[in-house]
Amino acid sequence: MLVYELPGTFETREAHLDLLWEAGATGLEERAGVIRAYFDEETAVPAAVADGEWKREADQDWQAEFKANLRPVQAGRVTIVPPWLRQDVPAGQVGLVIEPGMAFGTGHHATTRMAVEALSALDLGGVRVLDVGTGSGVLGIAAALLGADLAYGVDIDPITIPIARENAEINGVPAGRVRFEEGTLGEELPDDVAPGGVFGVVVANLYAELHDLLAGEYAAHLTPGGPLVLTGILTSKLALVRAALDREGFTGVQVREDGEWALVTATA
Ligand code: SAM
Repeated sequence: MLVYELPGTFETREAHLDLLWEAGATGLEERAGVIRAYFDEETAVPAAVADGEWKREADQDWQAEFKANLRPVQAGRVTIVPPWLRQDVPAGQVGLVIEPGMAFGTGHHATTRMAVEALSALDLGGVRVLDVGTGSGVLGIAAALLGADLAYGVDIDPITIPIARENAEINGVPAGRVRFEEGTLGEELPDDVAPGGVFGVVVANLYAELHDLLAGEYAAHLTPGGPLVLTGILTSKLALVRAALDREGFTGVQVREDGEWALVTATA
């Protein structure tokens, strides 16, 4: 990697940034009072920016670095790990293996972690769980590993479905205990998934505005008394979700916060 380092900041040398682009820079970055311009080859630069210094640096494999820094995530009774850290699941914990990839849900985001924690606090034995916005399949697979009869995950993004299915396979969850399909709520669910489209638990990691829109659907798909687990909610938008749950007759609303993110549980 070839870098041309120039003293100054984007602000102090604003007038010179175009000169770097014109000289062939492929990218510019500011780090601690130094402008770093990336080039494919050493090149003559105009006099106004000639006070810099050429440096050759080792290429960084960002993906390898990201993977090397991944750590197991403990969420209640579940520890989420990438495949190469399987052996790091502590004794007594349920190991959930997620291959980090294109779909959201490695367990490292506070919302996923809180949702898995909330699922692990429930008795899921013999229960059918609906996972709305399944992404990597992490919540559905967690539910199945925690004893759910069937976890049914839907996502509007078609790229997530094969990824979620592959993650289910990596975890050895039998096909009959977990199922992922492209879709959303408001569409008819397959008859064999849950009688009358009614589940024992609904979990959804989406966002506040969508929870507001879908709150009626959550109520329609939950058995009376069944827990609803919602996250992806910015704490600043909690009022919107509370109002939607009130409107649809949910009771026992409880909130957990982690930084700017909230998880809400309620009962149908
Ligand atoms: N469930 C995973 C987790 O907890 O880490 C992934 C959550 S990710 C924040 C949200 C997912 O919801 C994305 O995969 C997105 O494609 C999906 N999604 C967004 N809008 C949706 C909708 N209306 N219906 C179903 N899925 C939706």
